[in-house]
Amino acid sequence: MLEQLSPLPADPILGLLKAYGEDTNPQKVDLGVGVFKDDNGHTPILDCVKTAERQRTDTEMSKIYIGPTGEAAFNEHMTQLIFGQHQAVRDNRARTISTPGGTGSLRVAGEFIKACKPNAKIWLSNPTWANHNGLFSAAGLTIESYPYYNYESKSLDFDAMLTTLAAVPAGDVVLLHACCHNPSGMDLSKEQWQQVTQLAKQNGFTPLIDMAYQGFGLGLDEDAYGPRLMAQELDELLLCSSCSKNFGLYRERVGGFTLIAKDPATADVAHSVVLSVVRSIYSMPPAHGAALVSTILSNSDLTAQWHDELTIMRERISNNRHLLVDALKAVGVERDFSFITKQSGMFSFLGITPEQVSTLISDYSIYMVDSSRISIAGISKDNVKYLAQSIAKVIA
Ligand code: PMP
Repeated sequence: MLEQLSPLPADPILGLLKAYGEDTNPQKVDLGVGVFKDDNGHTPILDCVKTAERQRTDTEMSKIYIGPTGEAAFNEHMTQLIFGQHQAVRDNRARTISTPGGTGSLRVAGEFIKACKPNAKIWLSNPTWANHNGLFSAAGLTIESYPYYNYESKSLDFDAMLTTLAAVPAGDVVLLHACCHNPSGMDLSKEQWQQVTQLAKQNGFTPLIDMAYQGFGLGLDEDAYGPRLMAQELDELLLCSSCSKNFGLYRERVGGFTLIAKDPATADVAHSVVLSVVRSIYSMPPAHGAALVSTILSNSDLTAQWHDELTIMRERISNNRHLLVDALKAVGVERDFSFITKQSGMFSFLGITPEQVSTLISDYSIYMVDSSRISIAGISKDNVKYLAQSIAKVIA
């Protein structure tokens, strides 16, 4: 059985990470991997997480199975974090389960959609996070795409997006990024969320919101504008959340899947289908990371500390955008890169060619994926001048 296999290419980001690790140039810069980094290039464990972890080792009583929904307290806190004091939550229309990261949640969403409507199509933004394609095709869904980012104007192609979405049939699913669009950094404005919500209402497609970066864009509540509006206006909504970035819990695999249905009875039925999907994939989610999140969110001091630590991460990313654009100007680059400061979250496209990317890697040890998507957290006060000078040379 195994002998007939041919090797598959490794994930380009992992290849890039390996090459970066092996590069001996002391000036090397990693703009590939999408994790938060501080000014020293470290991805620290948050202090609130460390405290929660100490509390947990002192108080945890058992490692017995947790059940397919995960921990109830985590699910309630996540619902609150995403939707706030929302009418849909008060009306008991929301059901959240704990999942192995945002990725696990997206796979559950894919299988759930397939169970609801085997011939449903899922519409992804062009471009989108590369893993969306693999996740949804593995779940057996047909993938379609809608225009999103205009590489020429370096902004949202909203008219084209809306025109395509207007033709999406009832019963199909449209995936939207709640905030910090990966890979483009271009988010919908409030007015644009309203227009997409109106279309969903009129035409009957179901939105699936991928919320992997709540708190990394404009703020915890601001980043939840789209999900809250849709929960208010629509009968149905699916949402995949992740605590990888905002709690820095990457390897602990913590996320959630929330469905909002028309009424509590429909939500219960849909929830039972979600649980059967979970049982057939991984049976039950990991408990540790979710317990840390619920410990933090059930303690006002730890929650306040988390807000402070999250603000530091968000502001650093936003400042890095300005740092890079200013440094490019300072080294005499005339091309307009100001779009980077108008985008949000971990990523932007630099907008240079794959050949120029390749030169940045080979001649300057500056690592990024072929599309020129850069991970903004990899910029620092120490490397920004070298980065700007190198970019200036390759685009000259
Ligand atoms: N969605 C998007 C858009 C992402 O960028 C990521 C992480 N890179 C995820 C989902 C999955 O996150 P997790 O690490 O929690 O699986």
